[in-house]
Amino acid sequence: MRLTYDVIVVGSGFSAIAVTCNLIEQLPASATVAVVGDDPGFGRGTAYRTELYLHRLNVPAGRMSLLPHQPDDFVDWLKSHGRQLQASDFASRSDYGLYVRDTLARLLRKRDGRCRVDFIKAKAAGCVERYSSTLAFHLGNGDEIAGRNVVLCLGVGNATLPVDPDGVPASLRSRIIENPWRLSWLRRVAPSDAVCILGSGLTMIDQVLALRAHGHSGRIDVLSRRGLAPLGHAPKPPVPLPIDVRALPETLSGILKTLRAKSRTVADWRAVMDGLRPATQALWQRLSSRERARFLRHALPWWNIHRHRVAPDVFDRFEELVLDGTVRFHAGFLKSLGAEEGGLVAAYRVRAAREIAEIRADWLVNCTGMERAGISHSPLLKEMSRFELIIPDPLGLGIQVNAASEVIAPSRISPARLFAVGALTAGQFWEITAVPDIRVQAKAVAEEIVSRG
Ligand SMILES: Cc1cc2nc3c(=O)[nH]c(=O)nc-3n(C[C@H](O)[C@H](O)[C@H](O)COP(=O)(O)OP(=O)(O)OC[C@H]3O[C@@H](n4cnc5c(N)ncnc54)[C@H](O)[C@@H]3O)c2cc1C
Repeated sequence: MRLTYDVIVVGSGFSAIAVTCNLIEQLPASATVAVVGDDPGFGRGTAYRTELYLHRLNVPAGRMSLLPHQPDDFVDWLKSHGRQLQASDFASRSDYGLYVRDTLARLLRKRDGRCRVDFIKAKAAGCVERYSSTLAFHLGNGDEIAGRNVVLCLGVGNATLPVDPDGVPASLRSRIIENPWRLSWLRRVAPSDAVCILGSGLTMIDQVLALRAHGHSGRIDVLSRRGLAPLGHAPKPPVPLPIDVRALPETLSGILKTLRAKSRTVADWRAVMDGLRPATQALWQRLSSRERARFLRHALPWWNIHRHRVAPDVFDRFEELVLDGTVRFHAGFLKSLGAEEGGLVAAYRVRAAREIAEIRADWLVNCTGMERAGISHSPLLKEMSRFELIIPDPLGLGIQVNAASEVIAPSRISPARLFAVGALTAGQFWEITAVPDIRVQAKAVAEEIVSRG
């Protein structure tokens, strides 16, 4: 069976739902939209699927409305659901997932003059270009659908363990948690078990707090390349210091020097980071490819911990565990994983040294997260790249798109339009992984589709 739609949205996380909501608001009743995703909780994706209340948003509620033109929408939703939270508070991610679902449901309830939207629960397995002005997708359920406009909202995959899987003893497989977002692994951990977490970003903090909530009281060793952990938001956010991107130097080292000097002039360095936020995309676009590559090589971990901060009380809870010695940090590169007396040994090269050190634990949890958005995690994107329907970003930041988020692929022949939304467009925008940026992009892409008819 093959159906042709005006728009196909591929994906079922936040980006896909944000694009769909904007399309519903803007398209005429005669238009048809298909949303194709394999995720059981449409709209939740990895981020908002968690059931644990302690897994909180890292952006204040006042900046998390799905619709940029209705900035108080999420705060109003929280109020109407009895949550005593203000715009500056950090709501739970599970509530945010419900809010996204409700927002979509509210728009779908409006039957009058609304376009048709079909939700298809399937994976898009392959894509071909049709001469009849469409791009067609083979779906995992055997169907094929074609679209005159397509929006790729595929997010990024989980990073795999940075060791050769063939070198990992088979007996260890059940002790390695490759995808910690399936929280069922927590039930297998005994209270006194030793846990080694690989990666020290936001996912690590989530997992440490989830372990505690499940009654775990054992030691937690955290191994990452630099041993840096995210910083916290200030309980009272400072007023952002406005930053004029045009006045900044063009080299990375010059920019860092200027920003450091600016942070010495304010009481709280967060004022500089928050002032930079609205200007980050423009700053990224000014950087040459060489400077972008230098940023990814040298500054990324520092950027991440200052930029992607955790809610103040979440930070305090985590900090207590560090101070009482429950959580210990190690800086180095994982070299190998071995088995030993029912447990595992993670051998790593200590940062800036030749020495090899070892961590002994009962469990290894992969929290290396999503630093980059390559295409290797996605069979669909790999195939599209082979057919030259997309071109990977040279720095591994998704795929090449223009300033309107339209995919750049000069050898395509069909007039069907192909867009991407979310982390896949990091090469063009860099700052495009969180809701405040994705929602603006989702609205702009919907407007672009509607404006060309
Ligand atoms: C743990 C975590 C916490 C976060 N917290 C925040 C926060 O507090 N605030 C914030 O602003 N941002 C946060 N983020 C950033 C978050 O990534 C974005 O807010 C947003 O959820 C990204 O959504 P997405 O749809 O682009 O990607 P995803 O949520 O990854 O969704 C991609 C979807 O595409 C589907 N898919 C992939 N391939 C195919 C295919 N071939 N066919 C069909 N479907 C496919 C997947 O199944 C998935 O459902 C967080 C991220 C994580 C991982």
